[in-house]
Amino acid sequence: MIIKGGKIVTGTESYIADIKIEDGIIKCIGDELSALPGEEITDAKGLLVLPGAIDAHTHFDMPCGDIKTSDDFYYGTRAAVAGGTDIMVQIHEKDRRWKNLKCLLDITYLDRELRYITEDEENIYIGSLATHTDIENSAVIKENLLFLGVASSTVGSPQIRNRGTIGGSIGNAFPASDPLPALIAADARVRLLGPEGERELLLKELYEGKGKLGLKRGELIREFRIKKLPEGSVTGFSKLGMRKALAISRLNCAAALTFDKEGRITEARISPGCIFITPDRVERAEKLLTGEKPSEELFEAAGRAVSEVMIERTGIRWSTEYKKPAVEEIVFRALCTAAGMEV
Ligand SMILES: Cc1cc2nc3c(=O)[nH]c(=O)nc-3n(C[C@H](O)[C@H](O)[C@H](O)COP(=O)(O)OP(=O)(O)OC[C@H]3O[C@@H](n4cnc5c(N)ncnc54)[C@H](O)[C@@H]3O)c2cc1C
Repeated sequence: MIIKGGKIVTGTESYIADIKIEDGIIKCIGDELSALPGEEITDAKGLLVLPGAIDAHTHFDMPCGDIKTSDDFYYGTRAAVAGGTDIMVQIHEKDRRWKNLKCLLDITYLDRELRYITEDEENIYIGSLATHTDIENSAVIKENLLFLGVASSTVGSPQIRNRGTIGGSIGNAFPASDPLPALIAADARVRLLGPEGERELLLKELYEGKGKLGLKRGELIREFRIKKLPEGSVTGFSKLGMRKALAISRLNCAAALTFDKEGRITEARISPGCIFITPDRVERAEKLLTGEKPSEELFEAAGRAVSEVMIERTGIRWSTEYKKPAVEEIVFRALCTAAGMEV
């Protein structure tokens, strides 16, 4: 069964449904339904695709297969779909995490509510349905968070960037997400929307383990809020993939540096991707830079500090021999890019 395009299609009948945010809760309104001539189920292989509803207030009092209560939508039986660039591939490849999936919620219906990039004096706000292309092209991002725009511009291909969203990039809980290190370096906060209302936390606190987010039952990512970096900050992003295009990162790193008038670093932020169990900044390397003037030697030392912390946290593995110099280089490059030095 599919619910799509504002219609609920059962195979023999279809109904009008609607999705909206009301009282801070995402609702799928399906009670004023009018039966329309039947439509074939063609594209979801028996999966139910709902436009958005993902909370306890969702109720369908009409023939809707085995979906009777919102409980059916949790515990892996239902999931949100934004751009679909990850989840549709995972379903197609019979990924185990979706083995009980009955229903997909098409949240692109919340485009007007969740697709935006705005700013005020202190913060940047990015709605979860902003695509990588939106972020890459945004003047607000170019001015304030260049490394996030650059990271977004390296995601997949133009097609993937046009469909893939920042909410999906985080919702997927994939450690190799390219926008993730810039968000972590900038101490992004994430606003979540669920049946119990809204809550906001540091994005890094949302990660509970490898590939595991602490989203509560029925919660969606609504927005990322990022405090503007101090005046005089510069940023850099670097990525190591298997090939030059269409490559998901093996390693990546985002760095931000703030300088005083004498050209000394007053604040450094370094967030390497793919090396820790949950994403983080590396304080030891950041401290090493503070108070210093940029130089190749300094940035190499910061790279070594990051690889030391990696080994302390994750131990020596079969991949360490390759990963250690690669991490050092990727951190070095992100820092050089931020400082405007030749890489
Ligand atoms: C060929 C290819 C190349 C790629 N290359 C890259 C790359 O270079 N770099 C990179 O970082 N990624 C890459 N990706 C991964 C992918 O494109 C991105 O992660 C994308 O941003 C996912 O967004 P989406 O909207 O398509 O997510 P979807 O596939 O719609 O959803 C992904 C997951 O997030 C959940 N989700 C979606 N929106 C929300 C929300 N608002 N709240 C809570 N959960 C939500 C879904 O339930 C699902 O579990 C690539 C993918 C492909 C297929």
